[in-house]
Amino acid sequence: MIPDHCELVVVGASVAAEALVARLRELGHGGDILVVDRDPRMPYERPPLSKLYLTRPEDTDITVEWDANTPVMAAEAVSLQTSEKRLELRANGASETQFVRYDTLVIATGATPIRLPIEPDGVLRLRTADDSAKIRSAAQSGCRVGIIGAGAIGAELATSLRQNGAEVVLMDKADRPLERLLVGHLAADVTSWLQAVGIDCRWGVDIQRIAGSPGDWTVVLGDGSVLAFDALVSAVGARPITEWLSESGLLTEGQLLCNAYGNVITEAGAVEGIYGIGDVVTRQLPSGERVRTESWTAAAEHGSRLADLLMSRPMLEPEISYFWTDVAGRKVQVLGSLHRDGAIEVEFENPARGAIVYRVTGSDGSEGWIGVNAQPKIAMLRMAREKGTP
Ligand SMILES: Cc1cc2nc3c(=O)[nH]c(=O)nc-3n(C[C@H](O)[C@H](O)[C@H](O)COP(=O)(O)OP(=O)(O)OC[C@H]3O[C@@H](n4cnc5c(N)ncnc54)[C@H](O)[C@@H]3O)c2cc1C
Repeated sequence: MIPDHCELVVVGASVAAEALVARLRELGHGGDILVVDRDPRMPYERPPLSKLYLTRPEDTDITVEWDANTPVMAAEAVSLQTSEKRLELRANGASETQFVRYDTLVIATGATPIRLPIEPDGVLRLRTADDSAKIRSAAQSGCRVGIIGAGAIGAELATSLRQNGAEVVLMDKADRPLERLLVGHLAADVTSWLQAVGIDCRWGVDIQRIAGSPGDWTVVLGDGSVLAFDALVSAVGARPITEWLSESGLLTEGQLLCNAYGNVITEAGAVEGIYGIGDVVTRQLPSGERVRTESWTAAAEHGSRLADLLMSRPMLEPEISYFWTDVAGRKVQVLGSLHRDGAIEVEFENPARGAIVYRVTGSDGSEGWIGVNAQPKIAMLRMAREKGTP
């Protein structure tokens, strides 16, 4: 049952919320915490959804160790009235909404896949466990599958579906894969890994039109060529889930802006008692630059740092940014920031294990690393950076 009042209310029950709740409990927070999520299956882990869970769900555990004293209520946040400190919720299956008053509100509603304007209904997208199951059943062995977008999720999907025996065409309008993650580095390597497992890579494609329906899709490209698919998946990125905040006065140019502490900021300054964590947040840096991350590690860090703040603990220095992805049988890890025009050199190599670490040094002094099958070395680099040792 939705209570009339709860001291701390968290909207969204994914990795950012899990890290927040776990750290609060670890620090001795004994009060009630109301956590709501509109996905009745939450909490679960998302990274396996495009990897092993997609092909072998029976061998993949996506459950999360969630604090037993903090149940997750299946309910959707529909609006927020900050002046009265109340949140409007609709419990799943209910027709009426109810209000809960909060002292502190944490917004952790994450992101949702972007839909291209030319995408008809029936094109699949991946964010939830249900989406993963739908893709699994639509893209069985022998099917011809088109994937639009060769970012981390598109490349992982292509790898998994190909492993499962589907014929996969991976398309991107960029002229290389993993453009946002690797900012142009290792493009030829990644392309050759994908091709070596039998994925048909089409970069620099301009999709003009998509017609058909599930089981019979036609994709028309700018050069006039026509591709036919049984299943079509769009993986062109994600956008923050902020619609429910549209009347709240919290959004700045449509974004949920937060300062380094996770406190929501508007033109009037920091909003007392309202915080944002995870993929939904756009961080406003002291330089004025706005940054949004979509990473498991960053979301978890937002949650645990906010717990420290709420429990008046000293805040630790932010962690060095980190992302991993599994592409064509390789673990690719990115640590720090990769400069697009940075000089790339091999820092470590173990050919026997197919492991290699590249260092990317930017002209602005930035430093980043790309590891391929080099988990122990990247773990050491990550620990060293976090301790501040060069
Ligand atoms: C398929 C896939 C693979 C990934 N692989 C990797 C990887 O390999 N490495 C990596 O670093 N990251 C990966 N990520 C990204 C990572 O999972 C996300 O960065 C992370 O899940 C963000 O966590 P979050 O807590 O901010 O929000 P989310 O995980 O997006 O969860 C937000 C929750 O809020 C709920 N919600 C939204 N709106 C409402 C509302 N109005 N009311 C109630 N509930 C609401 C949603 O149902 C959802 O459960 C992957 C993501 C996906 C989708």
